[in-house]
This record gives sequence, C-alpha cells and structure tokens, in this order.
Amino acid sequence: MAKDFKRHSFWLQQVHGDAPDQPALEGFAKADIAILGAGYVGLWTALRIKEQDPACDVVVLEQDICGGGASGRNGGFVLAWWPKLASLAKLFGPEEAIRICRSSEQAIAEIGEFCRAHNIDADFRCGGWLWTATSSAQMGAWESVVHICEKMGLQVFRRLDPGEAAQRAGSAAHRAGVFEASAAIVQPAALVRGLRRVALDRGVRIYEHTRVQNFSRSAPVVLRTGRGSLAAEKLVIANNAWAASIRELHRAIAVISSDMVVTAPIPDRLERIGWHRDLSITDSQTMVDYYRVTRDGRIAFGKGGWTIAYSGRIGSNFDRHARRASEVTADLRRYYPVLADAPVTHDWSGPIDRTPDSLPRLGRLYGRPNIVYGIGWSGNGVGPSVIGGRILASLALDRNDEWSNHPLAGRGLNNFPPEPIRYIGAHIVRTAVAAKERAEIDGRKPSWLAVQLARLAPAGLEDKS
Ligand SMILES: Cc1cc2nc3c(=O)[nH]c(=O)nc-3n(C[C@H](O)[C@H](O)[C@H](O)COP(=O)(O)OP(=O)(O)OC[C@H]3O[C@@H](n4cnc5c(N)ncnc54)[C@H](O)[C@@H]3O)c2cc1C
Repeated sequence: MAKDFKRHSFWLQQVHGDAPDQPALEGFAKADIAILGAGYVGLWTALRIKEQDPACDVVVLEQDICGGGASGRNGGFVLAWWPKLASLAKLFGPEEAIRICRSSEQAIAEIGEFCRAHNIDADFRCGGWLWTATSSAQMGAWESVVHICEKMGLQVFRRLDPGEAAQRAGSAAHRAGVFEASAAIVQPAALVRGLRRVALDRGVRIYEHTRVQNFSRSAPVVLRTGRGSLAAEKLVIANNAWAASIRELHRAIAVISSDMVVTAPIPDRLERIGWHRDLSITDSQTMVDYYRVTRDGRIAFGKGGWTIAYSGRIGSNFDRHARRASEVTADLRRYYPVLADAPVTHDWSGPIDRTPDSLPRLGRLYGRPNIVYGIGWSGNGVGPSVIGGRILASLALDRNDEWSNHPLAGRGLNNFPPEPIRYIGAHIVRTAVAAKERAEIDGRKPSWLAVQLARLAPAGLEDKS
C-alpha cells in the first residue's frame, strides 16, 4: 500500500506531481549495484557511479517516493563542516580537518552548479549562516570554533558588531552572533526531485514504493522486498535513520526527531523587520532552533531533538506530531513576537540519524567487500551528502582514490550503549536539556541537576564552547 507522502512536508507538497511515481519492484531483478534509499545520499551515489562507470547497472530501492525521507522534509540549510573543525582536527589532524571542511564548502557551490546545469528550480540561494545566541547562557557558544579557525589562520567566521545579529535576523531576541558566508539555502524537496530526474535520465533504475525487508550477507547480495527480490553484486546502504533496523548499524546512531512549521506568506512584514531573505539562522541550543525564509516569503522554522525512537523504531510520530508542532510554533513566536499573528499553515516531522560525535559513518559493513554504508549525517546532510556520494561510489566501485581513502570512510562505528540503556539515558538527558534551555531562554536559573545531566548530551552540529 502506497503511503500518503503528501503529508510529510510543505516542500514535498510544493513539488508534488512533478513526475509520475516509478513502479514498485515486482518479481526478480538483477543489478550491478543496489542502493537502499532514495534521498540525497543514495541519489548522489547513483549519479557518481554513473559518472565513473556509465555501463554500471544501478538500481535504487525506495520504500516511499524519492525524497519521502529526510531529504524532502528538511530545513534546506546547506552548511559546511566548519563548526566541526575541532572534532575533525582531533580525529584526523589539523591539515586533514581543513581539507575536509574546504571540500564541504565546495559541496555547497557544487549543489548550486548542479541545479543550474540541470535546470533544477530548487531556489538555491547563497546568503550565509547566522549563528546566534538567544539567551545569556548561549553567549559566546561559538568562541571555541571561531578561536580554532583563527588559530589555523582561517577567516571563516566574522564576529558581528553589537546589535548586528538582531538587525540581520530581524528580532532583538538575537543578542549576539557570528556570520559564516559559505552557507546556502535550498528548497530541499525540489533538490531531491531534481536529483531523481537526472538519475533517471542517466539510466539509473529506481523502484519507488518498494521497502527492502531484509538482505543477505552473501555475494551477490539478495534484497527481499514485499513483492520481489533483487540480486546485486554490491549494496550501498543509504537509508539514513532507518538504518537503525540493520543489526550491524543498530547502535551506530540514535534516532531523534526534528520538527518543522511553516507560516503563511508574509514577505512585506519580513522585509519591514529586516530579515534578509537569503539568510539561514540558528540559535545555540543543543535542541537547536533553525529558521529561514521561503521563496514566497514564509518563515520555515524547525527544532531538533524533541523525541527519541526506542530501539531506532521510526513510527508515524516521526511524520507529524501536533504537540511538538505547537512547541516549535511557541519558539517561533518567542523569537518573533511582532509576527505572533502570522498563521502556521503546515507542520511536519522527520528522523535524524545522530552519531555520538555528529559526524557521519561510512565504510564497509563489518569489512564485507560488497556491502557499504553511509549514515549518521546528524542533521547536517544536505551539503555533506555530496561528499558521501563520492565516498560511497568509490567504495562500491572498488576504486583506490582520494574518496575511497577518505578519512571519514572506515573509521568504525563508535557505538551508543545497547537498549534499553540508550533510550532511557537519552530520554533523561534530553528532558534535562529541554528544561535547562527553556529556563535559560525565559531568563530563569536552571536547576543544578538539569545542568549536570545536560552536560552528558552528545556533541551537536557545532563544537560549542
Ligand atoms: C525536519 C528535518 C530538518 C532537517 N534540516 C536540515 C537542514 O536544514 N540542513 C541539513 O543539512 N540537514 C537537515 N536535516 C538532515 C538531512 O535532511 C539529512 O541528513 C539528509 O536528508 C540525509 O539524506 P539521506 O539520503 O541519508 O536520507 P533520506 O533522505 O532520509 O533517505 C533515506 C531514504 O531511505 C528510505 N528507506 C528507509 N528504509 C528503507 C527500506 N527498508 N527500504 C527502502 N527504502 C528505505 C527512506 O524512505 C528515505 O527516503 C534535517 C532533517 C530533518 C528530518
């Protein structure tokens, strides 16, 4: 039974009907390379394989439609890895860390070029990222990141003058901030649907509404679906948070929600408050608030980390959740009180594949030469998925190149504890983080216990001070 994907996001509704769905897999089929999941990672990988080896028969299997997962539901922030420079330097040394961050910056430009080259109207706009503080506790959250950049001679972040963050974001709730110029925004579903079109044009076969129920660990790999099966020489696992159901990857990620709301179009009012329409904005909470303006002048506002999936099971509360949507709306109103009467027209949710250090995991599944995986984008996957596609394509094609030898490939899984410890622990820490951050934003002193427990939260999108 086909899922009603339209409910997933405002973005998918905007592009709905762009192309007929691809048929589900029926019966037995063969492929050189099978890709599990048709989001950015799966589709960039398919395109890269075709670029390297046009004769390779690539088949993508998708349980929903292309973009039905996080790629069609996200905030559309296209960010580099600069805020993870310290973590990367600790893992791979300073030179390699800079190289990885630079390539993540190039990936942003590449997405813009790809859209231009293939006439993909994904509203790609490069307006930079404003990283702000919205409570006194958040002030200077960026200092360690800015400091390490400066120490390495990199002028990546610009410290803003007093009042400048509030002016650029269009609200006095933003007490201070730094600006990073490479970031862009995009209509996320239009991007993934564009990737789908180009992949089909290049001869990639895509089966939609085809859930992979399980796959063998043999050669060839046999993937079993509801009404068929596919035998492939190689398998690329690119199914994001759903990879938590694969036994070898089960503990590599914690599945948490990210929730979004969108207002009615209010372009004139946004212009009056001074919010630059191409800007992406985040605060410095662990449960981060992220917001930007759509092409037609709506606010798209999201919050990360509200709920956690027990044992990685992704239920319908990861598609949409009324109470969480109202909490996200409350945050939006708190930051923009002058827009409090702007109606919210859409809300939805999606799963995030969070790793302990918020950096992805790519490699061969327990060393198997014919099964590779790329998961754990941790809420920053729009830009980095370009790099993921290169790494996974090179691994699947057995190339010996800079991508198959990339430091992010094969660095192990760095597991979370088993269930129920992971869930109970994550739940306690998340509750503490929420209580602490709410108190701080309201100008109250958080409890000692909440502060101590919140310290146990895994690293976020940024290596905060
Ligand atoms: C609400 C939200 C906001 C976000 N905001 C941002 C942002 O602003 N910037 C940013 O960089 N990142 C953001 N992210 C994260 C970003 O969307 C992801 O990192 C990125 O889309 C990952 O791409 P992917 O291809 O790995 O995953 P997906 O797009 O989720 O693709 C995986 C696909 O696999 C399919 N699948 C799963 N299991 C099976 C199966 N058994 N059989 C067949 N198919 C299967 C799924 O249906 C899905 O379509 C956000 C995520 C969410 C949920």
